Amino acid sequence: MAGTTHLESDVQYLKGVGPRRAALLRRLGIVTVRDLLLHLPRSYEDVSRIQPIQDLVPDRWAVIAGRILFIERRSVGNDRLKIVTVGVSDKTGVIHLIWFNYEQIGERLKPGQSIICAGKVERYRHELQMKHPQIVGIDRELPTDPFLPVYPLTQDLRVQELRRIMKHALAQCADQWPEIVPRQLLLKRGLPPAGQAVREVHFPPSLEAAEQARRRLAYEELLIFQLAFAVLRHQMDRERRAPPLRVTEEIDRRIRRLFPFSFTAGQNAAIADAVRDLQSVRPMHRLVQGDVGAGKTVVATYVLLVAVANRYQAALMAPTEVLARQHWLTLERYLAHSRVRRALLTGSLSSAERERLLKAIRDGEVDLVVGTHAIIQEDVVFHRLGVVVIDEQHKFGVRQRARFRQMAQPGCEPHYLVMTATPIPRTLTLTVFGDLDVSIIRDLPPGRQPVETRIVRPKQLAEVYAFVREKLAEGRQAYVICPRVEETDEALAAAEQLQAELALGVFRDFRVGLVHGRMSEAQKDAVMDQFRRGELHLLVATAVVEVGVDVPNATVMVIHDASRFGLAQLHQLRGRIARGSHPGYCFLVAEPKSEEARERLRVLASTTDGFEIAEADLRLRGPGEFFGTRQHGLPELRVANLARDQELVQWAREDAFELVRADPQLRRPEHAALRRELLARYGQRLQLAAVG
Ligand code: ADP
Ligand code: MG
Repeated sequence: MAGTTHLESDVQYLKGVGPRRAALLRRLGIVTVRDLLLHLPRSYEDVSRIQPIQDLVPDRWAVIAGRILFIERRSVGNDRLKIVTVGVSDKTGVIHLIWFNYEQIGERLKPGQSIICAGKVERYRHELQMKHPQIVGIDRELPTDPFLPVYPLTQDLRVQELRRIMKHALAQCADQWPEIVPRQLLLKRGLPPAGQAVREVHFPPSLEAAEQARRRLAYEELLIFQLAFAVLRHQMDRERRAPPLRVTEEIDRRIRRLFPFSFTAGQNAAIADAVRDLQSVRPMHRLVQGDVGAGKTVVATYVLLVAVANRYQAALMAPTEVLARQHWLTLERYLAHSRVRRALLTGSLSSAERERLLKAIRDGEVDLVVGTHAIIQEDVVFHRLGVVVIDEQHKFGVRQRARFRQMAQPGCEPHYLVMTATPIPRTLTLTVFGDLDVSIIRDLPPGRQPVETRIVRPKQLAEVYAFVREKLAEGRQAYVICPRVEETDEALAAAEQLQAELALGVFRDFRVGLVHGRMSEAQKDAVMDQFRRGELHLLVATAVVEVGVDVPNATVMVIHDASRFGLAQLHQLRGRIARGSHPGYCFLVAEPKSEEARERLRVLASTTDGFEIAEADLRLRGPGEFFGTRQHGLPELRVANLARDQELVQWAREDAFELVRADPQLRRPEHAALRRELLARYGQRLQLAAVG
């Protein structure tokens, strides 16, 4: 009669569950038996080593074995509290096991029995005791499991209950756990088979086995996820077509001539990657990563100009209007002596201007369009779009890219280059931008000025401001960043007040401006232009200056309440003041409350390497917090942990892409289970019907 319960069964029908416990389990997100088995322990109790009672140390967890001397029942407070005390002795000493309001225990145990139990040792007056210990074995029952799982729990569900439920579930269903990872990959990666993994992750023979089991399950999860990317990429490469763009020596020379510097090794490598992509009929899908100021925009410009040189149009899209204008100004500088016909398309054009511009784009009279998402409105039609560069703050990420794709003409798409505003740890890149090829620029252009970063207390502000005054007097400019808050009315009032305080107080003989996220684009631009021209000396800003603002003369930054920002964001902010020919100074004003907050600031003060900072941020705060927003496009992973399982992400990536290269349709019998799982999980998004 076994086999009526399967992995998709409601846990309620599992032996020992029932409606009441099923409701408790639902609170943990557990509905089916599969969910239950994927509810993994957060740690294990070692019951493999029994300690002599005389060696027990209070406040430590221990396992003891002895004989029951007596069982005593008492009630206090009018029967409100019923206490069972069980005296146990081994040859070395005596310990009292205590249970409150759990009289049944007295019926299970008898004097003279031998007992093995585990729990936290406490000292009460002159006696050792354990409250509500776990009974590992009675009489001949030796402990069958050397390690017991400790689960995330919910109120009214005890760990012993959950262990018992898990045992039943494993006994009935572990053998049904499907093996979807091809044997060959398991061998290659030295991972256990699925059935063994799911058993041993709960009741492991050793802690090493537990970790291997967890890794196995995590690998499987990541493999499926990377397979989705691999299939997607394969389909894109097979089905989509882009114009092959030639890069002759002459074209290369003409483009390079526009820049007043020679490219760094990193830039050259990224350009070489992109040029290889551009010459193919497969659309380029490439991400260029690099630290703030590494010169990504230069690489992007090169790629845009390749399109123009091939008589195609090119578009550069930025996430905000400020950034679009910034790019526009940069391009204007690089293209000052070129005949490239270019236009800025943003939401703040008048409708007549917009109409005129759209017509020019449609008629092919504009070669290069820079803009915000105004570029992807439905009424924008390109004559012959060859390259699109998307500068995305990872916050907006994936969605914009998807929208951009929708407007591509089938049969002839542009090549895509994506720039991220800031370094992202490799595991997250593979996860969030998993359908893209990646070029990384690690070196910075020569002559970059160092930035000295100091963590200061709020009470040191007067000294900090005195230092800022000195720098302003020397002709430099400075930012004062407001605490990170939602851009609410109150927050803006606070920002305005800070501006007023500074303008009327310490900085009364300087001009102090304010820029915040609730200003209209025109207002923001006006303020930024004033700052850029040096008409404002000091700029009070909310985090809107985080993105791409480039004012080389601004070399000092004071960040209020710095521990409220993410590390990546702080790094990004600080990047604003390392752009000129003078050294930068960054003051992180903070009173960090937790050790983690302190550690984050220390990381920032100790390095300016964006990739190092990004890895630390991921480690300290985890992947969800890394991006600081919900819209990051991270998948929900049940087992894998992107901060901890970097090696597994890499393995899954390599294995998935290799697998799809060898068997694009996943037709081989050993891939059938993978294929089913992939369809079940990502079928819609992948249009896997096409694969079928
Ligand atoms: P990113 O987009 O990665 O932040 P940018 O492309 O905006 O970096 O470059 C940052 C600054 O460095 C710009 O002022 C740019 O002109 C300059 N720059 C870029 N590449 C080089 C280079 N190879 N040599 C010297 N300066 C460079
Ligand atoms: Mg830039």
